[in-house]
Amino acid sequence: MAFVIAEPCVGTKDTACVEACPVDCIHPGKSEEAFAAASQLFINADECICCGACVPFCPVSAIYAEEDLPMSWQRYKTLNAEFYRKDRRG
Ligand code: SF4
Repeated sequence: MAFVIAEPCVGTKDTACVEACPVDCIHPGKSEEAFAAASQLFINADECICCGACVPFCPVSAIYAEEDLPMSWQRYKTLNAEFYRKDRRG
């Protein structure tokens, strides 16, 4: 179980959540190469400790605990995971 970043982040990419995360599992940050091309930010489910610290920092309420993710945004679970499989291997 992990937190998931959903649709409101698309085109927003505020990055306040990146600073708030104590385990640095939200990417890409503004200084990362992948930032410009990324449609949104993503949470690495393997590293997320489910602390919820990022949630209040998101200005568009895009971050949900997996079990609270609205049905219409379930695909964001896969999208978050895919970012770490394809773009951040190794
Ligand atoms: Fe990081 Fe905690 Fe948010 Fe998970 S819930 S992404 S560990 S701040």
